[in-house]
Amino acid sequence: MAKKDPPLYDVIILGTGPAGLQAAIHAARKKIEVLVLGRPRSSSLYRAHIENYCCIPGVKAGEELLLTGIKQAEGFGAKFLQEDAVATAASPGGTYQITTESGETYSAYALIIATGITRHGLGLRGEKDLIGKGISYCVDCDANFYHDARVAVVGDGSAAAHGAVTLSKIARQVTLITRHLKVSPALEAELNRENVSILKGATIKELRGTNRLDSIVLRDGTELQLDGLFVEGGAKGAMELVAFLGVKLDPEKFTYILTDRKQATNIPGIYAAGDICGRPFQMAKAVGEGCIAGLSASSFALKKRSEETAK
Ligand SMILES: Cc1cc2nc3c(=O)[nH]c(=O)nc-3n(C[C@H](O)[C@H](O)[C@H](O)COP(=O)(O)OP(=O)(O)OC[C@H]3O[C@@H](n4cnc5c(N)ncnc54)[C@H](O)[C@@H]3O)c2cc1C
Repeated sequence: MAKKDPPLYDVIILGTGPAGLQAAIHAARKKIEVLVLGRPRSSSLYRAHIENYCCIPGVKAGEELLLTGIKQAEGFGAKFLQEDAVATAASPGGTYQITTESGETYSAYALIIATGITRHGLGLRGEKDLIGKGISYCVDCDANFYHDARVAVVGDGSAAAHGAVTLSKIARQVTLITRHLKVSPALEAELNRENVSILKGATIKELRGTNRLDSIVLRDGTELQLDGLFVEGGAKGAMELVAFLGVKLDPEKFTYILTDRKQATNIPGIYAAGDICGRPFQMAKAVGEGCIAGLSASSFALKKRSEETAK
């Protein structure tokens, strides 16, 4: 049977924080097809109380601002899907493909990366000394060092769940340690594997091992002997997603995406906005960059679409 083409949008935006929402508002007002992926609860703004944003006096809860922004963008025609992107690809035809945590693929002429920043780390004693000696922050980078090993992944989002699935094909035993797993039912179903066990409502309180990680101790006192522990907070990291597409990062720390004044990256049709583009981590900057990215991406997509129609 012939494979169906994925649904084609003009612009796909990764992120429903202030950068992604402002980009969605400006892009959707150009009467183009806009899809926004991500979870408002995962935005940094969700936990913030804002009192330094122009024209909003007093203190406003971030959650309320996000819900208002989503309604506004929906009002202009943007579509929202509360799922994380877990893979990206570019097609020779000049479109980009995004695969979500439930395995669906969507394509677009232009992408806007507005995934914010992930604050890494468990903040536990000895953690820094054990990095690269049993503790890793990237399943995609380090999974192959753990053939036939006993590993655990800690996290609540798609990065942790997706990481556990990847590791289950390499390691002997995988334990997913999570307080509340927040992933799609399809991704949760994928965790149903013989060598994967899930500890829900669990938190790590201690890391044991001097030159290498030997074990971890959970808050209820359970000790797990481990060869490796993967800390995978939040969603699939933007860096892993864009690295496959050749997007340039800052040369010093590889933590920010480099853009020009149009919020364009080095790859035509890929734009970035907000915290993912660097400091200051402020809503006003995220919104400003989101506005520019939305306008730039929509112009790019409209041009691409008219070239395709003329063919
Ligand atoms: C406690 C706290 C207090 C703060 N106080 C202030 C303040 O007073 N004033 C101020 O201006 N700023 C404040 N900030 C900073 C402000 O919240 C951020 O600068 C702003 O939210 C950044 O917006 P963003 O859209 O770039 O990223 P975020 O708001 O972090 O949004 C990122 C989005 O990307 C999505 N995402 C991540 N990975 C993926 C993926 N793989 N696929 C799809 N989607 C993905 C997430 O689901 C989320 O929706 C505060 C932040 C915190 C944490």
